[in-house]
Amino acid sequence: MTNRRAVIAGGGIGGLASALALAQSGWEVEVLEQAPELREVGAGIQVSPNGMKMLERLGVLPHLEHSLFEPEAIELRMGRTGRRVFRLPMKGYAQDRWGHRFIQIHRADLHDALAQALRAQPRAQLRTNAKITGYVRERGGASVYLERGERVFGDVVIGADGVRSVIRNQMCGTDRARFTGQVAWRTVVPVDALGDNAPPPYGVIWAGRGKHAVTTRVKGGSHVNFVGIVEQDSWTEEGWSIPGSIEEALADFGDWQPCLRAVLEASQGLFRWALYGRPPLATWCDGPVTLLGDAAHPMLPSMAQGAVMALEDAVVLAQMLERHADKVAALQAYEAARKPRTTRVQQRSAMNARMFHRPNAAAQLATYGPMALAGHLSASVIHRQQDWIYGFDAGS
Ligand SMILES: Cc1cc2nc3c(=O)[nH]c(=O)nc-3n(C[C@H](O)[C@H](O)[C@H](O)COP(=O)(O)OP(=O)(O)OC[C@H]3O[C@@H](n4cnc5c(N)ncnc54)[C@H](O)[C@@H]3O)c2cc1C
Repeated sequence: MTNRRAVIAGGGIGGLASALALAQSGWEVEVLEQAPELREVGAGIQVSPNGMKMLERLGVLPHLEHSLFEPEAIELRMGRTGRRVFRLPMKGYAQDRWGHRFIQIHRADLHDALAQALRAQPRAQLRTNAKITGYVRERGGASVYLERGERVFGDVVIGADGVRSVIRNQMCGTDRARFTGQVAWRTVVPVDALGDNAPPPYGVIWAGRGKHAVTTRVKGGSHVNFVGIVEQDSWTEEGWSIPGSIEEALADFGDWQPCLRAVLEASQGLFRWALYGRPPLATWCDGPVTLLGDAAHPMLPSMAQGAVMALEDAVVLAQMLERHADKVAALQAYEAARKPRTTRVQQRSAMNARMFHRPNAAAQLATYGPMALAGHLSASVIHRQQDWIYGFDAGS
């Protein structure tokens, strides 16, 4: 087969998923990852039904069954008082309404499953210690440059190199990712370490002034995943994933519900993670080069859709390259298909963050009062608001 070689910058969830989707449709793929080994950070991730449909298409669900957790429900509660605003039933309901399950999983388990499926593809190559510094368009495709001076050619090049993408910076100018004013705490703790103080065994968003937290279950339900998002004026540290102390985390969440305090106190490793973003891009394509996942559309995590959007991108990109003989036209069709949806999700994620962080009691009442009433009258009012996102099948 000729002219079907893709070079993929970045071996995160988006890079691996796109490599897998392309390899499955007959492409030779090479993933170039800067890190010395392929791995994901120690944190949980939620995969909504629209993402599960993509994982099913990619054939990775059998590798995940042992490690996923299907929560009974997702709740919105007040962080200090624990008062419930609404409960969204999920188990059983998600499958019936949106066509697949809603699950929680450790990122490393999802990443490993994608890598395992990719390694089973005879025409796929995964290279670590391969930092890309830029690309050049050339006849029939484009080449990326590696730090060590090597040049790697692809008929298409996919920039799946995350929110600080070098491919995007070259394509769109040096308008770098910006600090969003929010920092995420994260830790994973065994349920057994929490005694009677474990957070509920379903997903809970804990809302409060200028911050919110999310507790989920990962590793088949045996571990609690905690993410706490806090507004902060600036971020001056060198890395994006910085070890933090229990005392610092308790300064943010210590006066919230005892189960949250218990998670932080039992933590054997707390990290802070600055959240970066950027406004929607004017274009994602430069001839045979395109962007995917956070490189194309970074978003705040308050809709839990960043990785899910990358999975959708991966499936649509492979489909467009299958449908269009002209690769440049295929990449443009991919961008046209994806941009309206990812832009809407980016905007909605920023809106959700503001909604979870209402600054005072009056604003909280004005926001959560009608939600509580709607949820009390019928969960389907809240469910309906998720239809456009969870009910979507990007591969159909
Ligand atoms: C606190 C938090 C919670 C979240 N929760 C959820 C959730 O519940 N559900 C969900 O769907 N999403 C969630 N997200 C979003 C999700 O994590 C991201 O959207 C997703 O990881 C993006 O994947 P990606 O592959 O596009 O980018 P990344 O995961 O950033 O991967 C990029 C890869 O490219 C590599 N790379 C970078 N530069 C280079 C280079 N120059 N050369 C070679 N390699 C390079 C990096 O090392 C990395 O491996 C959350 C995010 C945060 C911060």
